[in-house]
Amino acid sequence: MKIISVDERTVPLTSDTSNAGISFSSMTASAVVIEIETTAGRFKGLGFSSYGRYGHGGLLKERFIPRLLEAHPRDFEDEVTQGFSMARFWETLMNNEKEGGHGERSGAVGVLETAMWDAWAKSEDLPLWALLEKNIGHVNDNGTPPGQTIVYASGGHYRESMANTNQLADEARISLDAGFAWFKLKVGGETTASDIERIESVITATGNSQLVAIDANCAFGNQKFDEHFLEIDKLNLRWIEEPVNPLDYEALSNVVDLVQTPIATGENLFALADVMNLLRYGGLKPKRDSLQMDIILSYGLTEYFGMIKFAKARGWSQRDFIPHAGHQLALHVSAGLGLGAHEIANAQDNPFYGVSFDTKIQNGIAILSDNPGIGIEYKPSIFQYFDGMLD
Ligand code: MG
Repeated sequence: MKIISVDERTVPLTSDTSNAGISFSSMTASAVVIEIETTAGRFKGLGFSSYGRYGHGGLLKERFIPRLLEAHPRDFEDEVTQGFSMARFWETLMNNEKEGGHGERSGAVGVLETAMWDAWAKSEDLPLWALLEKNIGHVNDNGTPPGQTIVYASGGHYRESMANTNQLADEARISLDAGFAWFKLKVGGETTASDIERIESVITATGNSQLVAIDANCAFGNQKFDEHFLEIDKLNLRWIEEPVNPLDYEALSNVVDLVQTPIATGENLFALADVMNLLRYGGLKPKRDSLQMDIILSYGLTEYFGMIKFAKARGWSQRDFIPHAGHQLALHVSAGLGLGAHEIANAQDNPFYGVSFDTKIQNGIAILSDNPGIGIEYKPSIFQYFDGMLD
């Protein structure tokens, strides 16, 4: 397999949503196109940054794209089979990169690797979920067959236009009516009383507190928030997400001990080494809590395989993995490997909203199509950013 060209474009994302920590109005992202040549012909793979971090144009153009273009096709071959090896592709990308200090590098590698997965799947004439099922294997322990995954709606952001809880309740009700398995809303941006009011309005709308999860986006940094957690804990929610700073494992462990409600976290950890520390010191419990590492932001799927392997050796299952962000890569990985669920962004003015239009959602399940690749071409809100890059 030969790499013909790699292009990156940094694009502005616009959305008027915000969570307890940041606004998304000035966010950027990287659109990446990689063209490869195999015995089956030439194929273009598309990658797009995940949500919540900025584009990676500088790193990609200065280091990672030149490294790929300078490599020899043999550098990407499996030493035994002589076929294409994503592990060796990843090693080429990471050549001369020191351990630790991940910074923005992990997202640059992740988006480039995403484009390569898309190109490779297209060269095999397979959707990525089927390529993963074939090469890695699907674990069917959450009841969904290959090509399908449980999906939940992630919304309930703070907005100027959403001051009252009626609109929040409507958003939750519409999400469940549209076929999502449960609904997640943002908390931690205002007072405890306001959080409880927001959550209770959604519980009333959905009719079941287990269909409601909350995301605090690290708003509760230390034990002065114990009272707040204890109030929320009484509501019997599906999970409390990112209660504290992602790297403060002691604070996380204190919250895990304090509440009965399951905890979900990991979306702001970008490397296997950080996830090892999370699982060793964060107090989380397998088969109760959820791991939400974002595949694109954390060096891509090659690194994610390592996270799954490490977690499984400590008693976790693939069902405990529910990746962050709702991008097409995560959708295919969830459906291909049999992960716990896929997050789908619910805010319609957000480019990450929904899934590709060749994906069907019903009864809490997404049913993916057989179209080759990861399906960015079938998601106009993201595909628009590639305008002019595919000529
Ligand atoms: Mg989150």
